[in-house]
Amino acid sequence: MPAEKEEVEDNTDANMEGALIARDRVGVQDFVLLDSHTSETAFLNNLRKRYQENLIYTYIGTLLVSVNPYKELDIYTVTQMQLYRGVNFFELPPHLYAIADNAYRVMCSEYNNHFILISGESGAGKTEASKKILQYYAVTCPTTEQLQIVRDRLLLSNPVLEAFGNAKTLRNDNSSRFGKYMDIQFDFKGAPVGGHILSYLIEKSRVVHQNHGERNFHIFYQLLEGGDKDLLCWLGLERNPQKYAYLIQGRCAKVFSINDKNDWKIVRKAFSIIDFTEKDIEHLFGIVASVLHLGNIQFEEDSNGHAIIRDGTQIKWISKVLSPLNVDLAFYARDAVAKAIYGRTFTWLVNKINGSLANKDSTRKTVIGLLDIYGFEVLDTNSFEQFCINYCNEKLQQLLIEMTLKAEQEEYELEGIEWEPIPYFNNKIICDLVEQKHKGIISILPSSLVVLRNNIALNISDEGEVCSEQRVIWCLLFQDEECLRPGEATDLSFLEKLEEKVGDHAHFVTRKLADQKTRKSIDWVDFRLLHYAGEVTYCAVGFLEKNNDLLYRNLKEVLCNSKNGIIRDCFLLSELDNRRRPETVATQFKNSLTSLIEILMSKEPSYVRCIKPNENKEPGKFDDYLIRHQVKYLGLMEHLRVRRAGFAYRRKYELFLQRYKSLCPATWPHWHGPAAEGVERLIKHIGYKPEEYKLGRFINGFINRKKPLCPENTEFVQ
Ligand code: ADP
Ligand code: MG
Repeated sequence: MPAEKEEVEDNTDANMEGALIARDRVGVQDFVLLDSHTSETAFLNNLRKRYQENLIYTYIGTLLVSVNPYKELDIYTVTQMQLYRGVNFFELPPHLYAIADNAYRVMCSEYNNHFILISGESGAGKTEASKKILQYYAVTCPTTEQLQIVRDRLLLSNPVLEAFGNAKTLRNDNSSRFGKYMDIQFDFKGAPVGGHILSYLIEKSRVVHQNHGERNFHIFYQLLEGGDKDLLCWLGLERNPQKYAYLIQGRCAKVFSINDKNDWKIVRKAFSIIDFTEKDIEHLFGIVASVLHLGNIQFEEDSNGHAIIRDGTQIKWISKVLSPLNVDLAFYARDAVAKAIYGRTFTWLVNKINGSLANKDSTRKTVIGLLDIYGFEVLDTNSFEQFCINYCNEKLQQLLIEMTLKAEQEEYELEGIEWEPIPYFNNKIICDLVEQKHKGIISILPSSLVVLRNNIALNISDEGEVCSEQRVIWCLLFQDEECLRPGEATDLSFLEKLEEKVGDHAHFVTRKLADQKTRKSIDWVDFRLLHYAGEVTYCAVGFLEKNNDLLYRNLKEVLCNSKNGIIRDCFLLSELDNRRRPETVATQFKNSLTSLIEILMSKEPSYVRCIKPNENKEPGKFDDYLIRHQVKYLGLMEHLRVRRAGFAYRRKYELFLQRYKSLCPATWPHWHGPAAEGVERLIKHIGYKPEEYKLGRFINGFINRKKPLCPENTEFVQ
């Protein structure tokens, strides 16, 4: 039995009454069935009713809305999985498993590719949802002994990526700080045979800076807590996280809900199953340790006001792990090195996992892609990262609207039913504002950077030793001439350029407009965009630096010679030969998003929209204000409108007949003619007017929403 005790079909009067009462209590399981489909309040009421009954899932047609329960529900058992396996979408209460199973079944029968897009804000439950879907496939799909290993690797790639890519934030104790798209590959029998992961924009800045109440990436704490004495000794680490500058800024190294020691064991085990060699693992921890050591390097001013390294002991350890980096490290701003090393190691990790998930045989496979990507984000201060994240959400919103509309339209055309265009807000205009060639904000973001690094001038001797006789070498830092264009661009000149070039765009709030009474004024370092999900004010400080993210040639050279194989791989020599300016972060992100959208467009979509019910991670608390906001910016009303604009209900003739045949003497108990004809008889018998339904050319009957067959919520369950 499903844990959700929602009523299934029944047509007797007594049960109808029961169903009405049930509807009152648990709401409708598909928003399309709400009487008032334009009212946000009705939408919220329905969501609240269900949430209070622990019914965290509700459909809008085939889209699944999920509200984080913040407590363990008994709906993810193997029995539940088996219940949903192979069952028609609307036959059981809404569930992630129904979404997963539907995609899988269509893939198997039509031999096409699918994706499941999971979105929502931080802490809404995206990552948990994607893990549950993966588990669903791991449990319910056919497998062989040989394929067990693939299955294990698919499952265990998660703890590894989470260790390196997730962190405790104020919003979520296990917040993914990267976007993830994972293809699960299936063979013709529907067995999972491989996988591939794409990662997006890991938040490198966290390596060197964490806000109060937040942590660095989990792996640092796991290593310190779980690593055995010998390992820590070899890495020159102490067990106490308080000893490390990169770990103490948030003042919460210990988190109640996180068991670093245990997680360490899982990660260690995962490494061996994912095919990491002992050497790989050694190098990987070497890197993690070097980042911690880097963080402890202190600079102090010499008599000329230049920075010198205060204490060389840290360098010794770094040189041991990343030899011969020790001396040359002095050339570079410490944090830039730490970020670069960590960011590239993360990419290496993803590639390594991909190697182990790769299926080498050349038979044709179909895939189901799981996209777990950061939701729209509005923080107190919004920086470059939020700009990228929100741009990403604009793109995905556009994809969702276009694909939903397109699918609707195509189905109508196929069935020969007239299609009336639906008015909706097309956010392409905002995507263009951000990404358009030569005109968009990304192209206005200057690609050459002047980083004076606030007087960070490093000192070396000719032999490359940090020496007492100091020499200003900051120009050496910028010896790559292309990076050296003093005075050309600053965050502020970027702001001015924005005003000048996109100032009159409908979704860019100019300073002039903002100063008028109706709007809050904009601070002089800020700019403001009108996203589909609402206004966001971005602070331009640091935009240029984060966008350029340059590593200078001499650092790359040093790193290329590292004895640490991973570091060497990450900073391949080929990069040095490439004299072209590297693409900026925003441009890279734009390009990877464009190809992601292409990947998705070629597949059949399913959507899961996750909602965070409150800011305190509290079970049962339904914060109306917060949720209303999410309903708005997730575009749920928009989606509902699209779904409702045409006929709200459609079923295949056979299924429809099966479900409702008892309502008409001609079809009850058996109908022997063609199903479509039976449906027509049935509909006429009930008294539908011609404008209230349409019979599709092939397989579907469409029913106008205004006249439901039965008044209760479950009538549309097949
Ligand atoms: P997101 O990836 O959207 O930032 P997560 O998936 O990490 O959010 O979820 C945040 C936390 O919420 C989880 O660590 C877990 O405690 C809780 N949570 C999320 N989904 C569920 C669920 N379906 N059942 C129980 N708890 C959940
Ligand atoms: Mg997540």
